[in-house]
Amino acid sequence: MEFIDNTKPVSLYIHIPFCTTKCAYCAFYSLEEKAVMAEEKELFYKTILNQLDELVEDLKRPFYTIFIGGGNPGMLGFDKLYELLKTACRYGKAVECTTEINPEFLNDDIIPLFEYLTRVSVGIQSMSSEHLKTLGRNANRNTNIKALELLNKYKNKYGITFNADIMTNIPTESIEDAINDIKAVSDYNPDHISLYSLTFEEGTKLIENCVPMDEEEQRSMLISCWNTLQELGYKQYEISNFAKDGHECLHNKVYWELGQYIGLGPTAESSVGYENIISSREADSLSEYLKNPGFNSIKLTKDEAEEEYLLTTLRTVYGIDKQEYYSRFHSNFDEKYRTFIQEIDEMLYEDNKEKFSLTREGFLLLDNVILSLAMAI
Ligand code: SF4
Repeated sequence: MEFIDNTKPVSLYIHIPFCTTKCAYCAFYSLEEKAVMAEEKELFYKTILNQLDELVEDLKRPFYTIFIGGGNPGMLGFDKLYELLKTACRYGKAVECTTEINPEFLNDDIIPLFEYLTRVSVGIQSMSSEHLKTLGRNANRNTNIKALELLNKYKNKYGITFNADIMTNIPTESIEDAINDIKAVSDYNPDHISLYSLTFEEGTKLIENCVPMDEEEQRSMLISCWNTLQELGYKQYEISNFAKDGHECLHNKVYWELGQYIGLGPTAESSVGYENIISSREADSLSEYLKNPGFNSIKLTKDEAEEEYLLTTLRTVYGIDKQEYYSRFHSNFDEKYRTFIQEIDEMLYEDNKEKFSLTREGFLLLDNVILSLAMAI
């Protein structure tokens, strides 16, 4: 890609958009198995492999981090995932290389991929079969236990690390249920836990069939979950991400720090450059992607880039580094945002000479803070 800053690391995201069935809460672009023909899936694989091959030959250097996400990458098959990883790592292995996988797809066929993979991310979501049913997941409690046992075994035998996604604020879930879920998952020693609050998105089955908890209840449940994670040794480093020491996800940090990354696959986005961020999107659907794999690039205006930078960094405990902000946007954070800072409750943030960051109370009211900040940009 012509805009890449060759003095800076580049990360890779590969989007595999296939799922067995659609989860009740899912608003991501993904295609159910019954809606995709075998030939289409094969064509997708060949297209993305060719595109990756060209990109790798263009760059001729290792990617800093690699993340294969979905959908459920397991739907492509481990042999094809292996070929993608082999191609991506032609000029050297990535410092961190992750694939997502749904629990019901995890089995020993993944072992050859550990030649390149350093990390696996599994969507557990809940340890209750009843809640998994509400979420429309294909796994039940036993499937999740089996997947966690396997990952713990691979961790000890092959030195990989792993993340477990957990969802909270599920209708009918009590605080006790949520805490027990976290404890049950942590028994299998994941290095990293992503804890998401269930959101009710337009157009999903969830919004048609269930009622969300009230906001105060949701916040209490989140605080209890955050406390439990902390007691178990998982440090919060972003609003939804918790890691044992030294196990923060480097690929996530690339996104949050607006580093360079290239996304391949339908709906995948890229962001390259440093001062002038160029954002690009592949396509809006599989059929469009197959017709025209390539990038539609847009150069963000200074205000758009600044908004993106502030909104993503505020989600992290590291917050806004004022020197970094000055290098990118050539203005003084304290001067520009003085009124915004004066207007929000001081319980919500920490502010010193070097950085501005949100507290846990600030994370809980993130939407309100973002709204005030967006008006000040
Ligand atoms: S597996 Fe993930 S991408 Fe697929 S439907 Fe469920 S939540 Fe959506």
